[in-house]
Amino acid sequence: MQRFKPVRQSRVSEAVIEQLKDSILTGYFKPGDKLPSERELSEQFQVSRVVVREALRKLEHAGFIVTRQGATGGAYVTELTFEYLVSAFLDLFLADKISIPELYQVRLLIEPEVARLAASNITPEFAQQLKEALEIEDLPVTTLPIDIDRKQRIHLIIAEMCGNHVFEALMRSLLGLTKKVVEAVNPDPDYVHPKGMHRAVVEAVVAGNSEAAAEAMKKHTIDFGENFIKMEKTYRERNSVLSF
Ligand SMILES: [Zn+2]
Repeated sequence: MQRFKPVRQSRVSEAVIEQLKDSILTGYFKPGDKLPSERELSEQFQVSRVVVREALRKLEHAGFIVTRQGATGGAYVTELTFEYLVSAFLDLFLADKISIPELYQVRLLIEPEVARLAASNITPEFAQQLKEALEIEDLPVTTLPIDIDRKQRIHLIIAEMCGNHVFEALMRSLLGLTKKVVEAVNPDPDYVHPKGMHRAVVEAVVAGNSEAAAEAMKKHTIDFGENFIKMEKTYRERNSVLSF
């Protein structure tokens, strides 16, 4: 009798993943686009919704999509490069293979340079964006994720302004990782990154003063880094307590 090799469910989901990935990589679905619903996908691929869900879960883990809940919920395509790096960095952090002091060291090296470049590329539009971002930071804190987004806004604008895409990709990944780590630890937002930390940085960048921008960003990174490192200690201690 002919003997067939069993086909594992995971093979089916791999085939679904391949096609979805292709449609993203070839630009059919662009960053921000919503993928068809689970039901539509399962009809088109002619596989069960369990398989579709598994494929989406893996794509999300690999950083290709994010799943949002609620009325406008669904699977959305991400900015690939950056999210992928964030997810890789986060895995390394959770596996205890990279630490916050190491992340901090890299930020300390890169961020003043990024700020220096940004100051030399100041335009009225960027100046306006920075000033608005600074005002938003002063609004009352609502939730931790919103607070982190507000505080990271200025770092992201400066990264975009610097004009070097490798620096920008690195900064987005490092900020993304910082956000995930802070969310995991869930500290008091005013403690880790108090208001007002960015004022000197923004003033120097808006004035187009590269030297002062680099200096102000260095000081900010050192101040934030100290809080961040203390915060990680708490997290590792709490987790080792939980595992006993
Ligand atoms: Zn900051």
